[in-house]
Amino acid sequence: MDTKNRLLVFTDLDGTLLDFHTYSFDAALPALNALKERGMPLVIVSSKTRTEIEPLLDELPLASRLFITENGSAVYLDRKSAVPPGVQAELKSGYRAIVLGRRYEEVLDALDRARTICKARVKGFRDMTDREVARLTGLDLGSARLAREREYSEPFTLQGSEDKLRCLKTELQEMGMTCLEGGRLFHAMGRTGKGLATEMVIDLFRAAPGGSQWKTVALGDGPNDIDMLRCADVAVIMRRPDGTWMEYDPAPLQLVIKPEGIGPAGWNESVTALLKELGNLR
Ligand SMILES: [Mg+2]
Repeated sequence: MDTKNRLLVFTDLDGTLLDFHTYSFDAALPALNALKERGMPLVIVSSKTRTEIEPLLDELPLASRLFITENGSAVYLDRKSAVPPGVQAELKSGYRAIVLGRRYEEVLDALDRARTICKARVKGFRDMTDREVARLTGLDLGSARLAREREYSEPFTLQGSEDKLRCLKTELQEMGMTCLEGGRLFHAMGRTGKGLATEMVIDLFRAAPGGSQWKTVALGDGPNDIDMLRCADVAVIMRRPDGTWMEYDPAPLQLVIKPEGIGPAGWNESVTALLKELGNLR
């Protein structure tokens, strides 16, 4: 039996596995193929929706279909995956899903109530056309349509003062929700995050037979990746197109890698180095 350490890899998409400008993952293919050949799982951890991520699952070389959507709102596993007792999982859209966030309707309802109480000028993806979402996010029209197929969270814009934002955050909090701040958009969602969902997947792997063999690696480039990065044995802080790395405070005993390459090139560099270090690659 192979008793070597095996990598369990968690990755953000935009600016990490996918090039910031072209959305290509080609530069990461050698490392992606090496993981697949060794049956080592790659878990996509994204703010994107399930239907945005699915086309990518068909293109990427992957040992398994396993992904986390809408900033940690749900973990999608292969429908035949075993889930330990005590973990609630449901069959959903052909997957076994562990839902950590709240239903989209509940999120919309909470955001509506908060906007009324705060008299805030909130405009969510539900209030926008595909074209408006495309213009706002830089996505093409087809991708904008998929980005509007939400299951657990609502991205929105807010016009007005800091006071309105504070009010919205407080009201959402009181309704059991949370408000994430992205670059251009805010996200109303249940009380979850990329870190909580990543921990859940690590627990699933560690609870299975041979669970102690997994060495966990997380790769990300932005503030919403920090709680995911802190869960892993190794955190890879991706280099940004301007040549800088974000500030990162490592978890205790954690190894931190800052690759030279940007986006998928840095991804390839880091994962290849880790596979070599574990003796899985010569
Ligand atoms: Mg990113």
